[in-house]
Amino acid sequence: MIPDTTWLQEAACAGVDPRAFYAEGHHAVEQVAAAKRICALCPVRPQCAEMAITSGEKWGVWGGMTQTELRQRRRRFTSRAKSDMREAA
Ligand code: SF4
Repeated sequence: MIPDTTWLQEAACAGVDPRAFYAEGHHAVEQVAAAKRICALCPVRPQCAEMAITSGEKWGVWGGMTQTELRQRRRRFTSRAKSDMREAA
């Protein structure tokens, strides 16, 4: 099934150079902060974060979160999904 990505049309980062969300080098901390400021104004943060978590994105800032923050969310999401599956069984 192809995921619905129509929400991307509302993204605050539409038209922004995607490299702004992939920090590296000496200015990585400032780059991440700048990317997070854009995400903070974005009306589709939840959808973006969910897509990054479910698709296993490994690089960049998504949904206003760094990869470390996304990994933490992914772990919680995965353990909750497993728990739900056990309860349903
Ligand atoms: S949350 Fe950030 S990366 Fe995701 S669509 Fe919005 S501005 Fe772009």
